[in-house]
Amino acid sequence: MFLKRFFPVLLVLLFVGGVVVWRQPQSVDRVSRTALIMGTVVDIQAYGDDEKQLSRAVDAAFGEMTRLERLLSRHIPESDISRLSEAVGGIELSSETVGLLEMGQKVSRQSSGAFDMTLGAVKKLWNIEGENPRIPTAAELSEALAGTGPSALTIAGNKVTKTRPEVAVDLGGIAKGYAVDRAVNVLAQAGVASATVNAGGDIRLLGGKKGEPWRIGIQHPRQADGLLVTLRLQDRAVVTSGDYERFFEQNGQRYHHIFDPATGKPARQCQSVTVVAAGAAHADALATAAFVLGPVAGLNLLEGLPDVEGLIVGADGRLFKTSGLPE
Ligand code: AMP
Ligand code: MG
Repeated sequence: MFLKRFFPVLLVLLFVGGVVVWRQPQSVDRVSRTALIMGTVVDIQAYGDDEKQLSRAVDAAFGEMTRLERLLSRHIPESDISRLSEAVGGIELSSETVGLLEMGQKVSRQSSGAFDMTLGAVKKLWNIEGENPRIPTAAELSEALAGTGPSALTIAGNKVTKTRPEVAVDLGGIAKGYAVDRAVNVLAQAGVASATVNAGGDIRLLGGKKGEPWRIGIQHPRQADGLLVTLRLQDRAVVTSGDYERFFEQNGQRYHHIFDPATGKPARQCQSVTVVAAGAAHADALATAAFVLGPVAGLNLLEGLPDVEGLIVGADGRLFKTSGLPE
């Protein structure tokens, strides 16, 4: 009865409503999306007024990061990195992987080996990111460290050779940054002028936000909701390595995921390191390197590089900054 009487009115309302919705311009100021890639929550925000274009660009950026996960992950058997870890002799890899290995090797040399892409066996031993992490024995550690270091990989053209077949490669300290760089390139190529890509603290900024620099809050390593500083930046990468990201505790001691290649144990001198640079891959590797080197040598490394700034929190909570940090 009720429906019968009001059905025509309802129809008119639906129709008018439909027209109103259809006529309204698609007005957005950004598209914001997250996905789980490389074991990390990746957040992409693209600003502009064409929702369709932004949406397509963000999809393409996530697609690019997923492609790189397949190329670089040590958990995917067909990846370049798994094939290299399994290889006994030299192996031909994609020029993209080789380029990234070369960038890593450069940071390795600059940091006297603090940045080390051959700690795959050490990482597996600690299993920090797995269900049952544990403290390895000294014998296990020395076996896992055998043959590792800056000279463990030799690159000639696209052929990469390991000094020992057992050496396992892990790009966990640089791959996320590289994927962030590539995502930003894809966004820019799709015509996006303003965006942020954040892969669990590996951030790169495309342009500014409405003509102004972005305000990037840097996580306090010991206060879950606290900020250490706020940086005003545009067109930069800002990457943080911290002992609070992945860790377990035993007998009051914290065991985290950034290892000192000299001992195979978690590096002890820092709580966190933030690096600001042009590219996220470079900043990623440098942040890991400086974390291992500690506040003094780490700050020295960052200060000595052109166009690189940084912020280090020492194990005692003391703050160290490079002279040109844009706060
Ligand atoms: P990040 O969060 O960028 O500092 O990278 C930490 C990840 O890099 C770890 O989860 C390991 O996969 C890897 N890693 C640990 N220690 C080192 C090191 N000394 N040099 C290079 N990569 C490392
Ligand atoms: Mg890193």
